[in-house]
Amino acid sequence: LIIRRLSSSGGGVGGRILEAPTAVCRLSEQPLPDVSPLLSPVGRSAKSPQPLAILTEPSASFVRSLAACWAFKDRPPCLAVPLSPAHSLPELLHAVRDSGARAVLTDGDSSGDVLRKAGELADAASLPLCRFGDLPLLPSASGDGRPLPAWKPESEPAYIVYTSGTTGRPKGVVVTHGNARARCRAVASAWRLGPSDLTLNCLPLHHVHGLENCLLAPLQAGGSVLINRSFQPEQVWQQLTGAGAWPRVSVFMAVPTMYGRLLDHLEKRPDSQRAAVRRACETGVRLMVSGSASLSESVMRRWHEATGHWLLERYGMTEIGMALGNPLDGPRLPGRVGQPFPDVRVRLRDPDSGRLLLTAGHGEPVQRLVDCDEAAGDSSSEVSGILEVSGTLVFKEYFGRPEDTAKEFTEDGWFRTGDSAACDLGGSFRILGRTSVDIIKSGGYKISALEVEAAFFGHPALIECAVVAVPDDTWGERLVLVVVPAPGQPQADLAGLQTWAAQRLAKYKWPRELRILDSLPRNAMGKVNKKQLKLMAAHQQS
Ligand code: ATP
Ligand code: MG
Repeated sequence: LIIRRLSSSGGGVGGRILEAPTAVCRLSEQPLPDVSPLLSPVGRSAKSPQPLAILTEPSASFVRSLAACWAFKDRPPCLAVPLSPAHSLPELLHAVRDSGARAVLTDGDSSGDVLRKAGELADAASLPLCRFGDLPLLPSASGDGRPLPAWKPESEPAYIVYTSGTTGRPKGVVVTHGNARARCRAVASAWRLGPSDLTLNCLPLHHVHGLENCLLAPLQAGGSVLINRSFQPEQVWQQLTGAGAWPRVSVFMAVPTMYGRLLDHLEKRPDSQRAAVRRACETGVRLMVSGSASLSESVMRRWHEATGHWLLERYGMTEIGMALGNPLDGPRLPGRVGQPFPDVRVRLRDPDSGRLLLTAGHGEPVQRLVDCDEAAGDSSSEVSGILEVSGTLVFKEYFGRPEDTAKEFTEDGWFRTGDSAACDLGGSFRILGRTSVDIIKSGGYKISALEVEAAFFGHPALIECAVVAVPDDTWGERLVLVVVPAPGQPQADLAGLQTWAAQRLAKYKWPRELRILDSLPRNAMGKVNKKQLKLMAAHQQS
């Protein structure tokens, strides 16, 4: 591993990984480790591809481990199962057992906790544990300046990424090299990623947001990535503003909870420092992206106030990569996720009648298949239904779950996302939530939990909130608002919150019960675990 100090790295050369705090790794100059000792002899006699679990902190070693899996030339091919140190042992064990991983690969640079976890995982799964640096090296580095990791034939599986487990047990999504390449191309084209970009990555790499959008896409576009081993607000602010020895970051991507935590951190500083942060972000950074969960209008506005940037919100899934996004050049509207990505087609289907309501493709006008008035939806100017997606970005299969795979595809090959969405007259989409947990059926209405939550973000007595349904004999389901109170504020009560709702929501969308928690249950991606919250809400009396 050739690591150079930042100060001697020179600027503008792509394909680099910069590791916080100071190391630079030029990927194409490094010989890769040879993973074949981990795959023989059992693997070579097997017919199906051979998964290797990678458990490291986000680092250059992670990227080189991934590249090493793809550099394995023998048959059957090797594919990676990226894991996160933020996961608990049972969660990691689920992914390793479910994917049939042959070994656990880690590195020597990760913290003691991560190495211990990797050891415990390998023991529990009865698998060999291998440190990245202990493997022999392949004969030579590619050295040809081509971006790494290098793609393989389109149909070959590249990795299995586990879904976030928001609605159930995480499912292993098999992403082929063709899918991954198409996803990187789409992201790079939509956001004009190129060799001069330095993308700041403080996301975990077991998920498509951190792995594809924020790592592989910028690298494949010839750019460089500055990787943080963990999310630390102070360090991220220094990097965004180019403070100290940090190089100038041009692109930043994060999830809404990270943006909230960064704002909380910054807003405690004196006015003069905040003004300097805003100036540095305005001049240095060209793009800031939010995704993986819905972004509240209040965070979007606070972020604009703090940095001068309107966050670009986009929508995607492990199964499909990125499907919808606000424009790079046009206005970015709060609460909306924009239009189809390059190479993506989307359509909306009425959940009750099964009728197709609307189709849209990248750069094309939306085609409405029913009259506005006929379409289901809250507002007459919007059409809403279940979102379906097609394109080369869409995954191949759920690993080892042929029935689930078959169930999620339509007869004509479109993927059913399970999310409800609405599209306005201008062709911009809005995510209403997952049909299984976020679309609440109460008194004959379908209510979007995300829309009700959005109405309460910004309430001074709350730090955060979530809406779930509990069964109701009369209404079918009733809405429960779960809140985390803001310290030092008078405690919110249901009547007061309903008064707040009265100015923002129709009465049938008002929460009927209130639960107060110290924090919301969240997963490694910062997403609220709605399934767990629903159980808590059902069992806890108001
Ligand atoms: P599981 O499939 O295991 O239940 P999950 O759906 O959360 O978990 P992911 O693939 O990580 O797993 O997340 C995709 C989901 O995240 C989407 O289906 C959507 O519900 C949500 N999502 C992503 N981006 C946005 C966004 N900008 N606004 C609202 N929701 C979003
Ligand atoms: Mg999902």
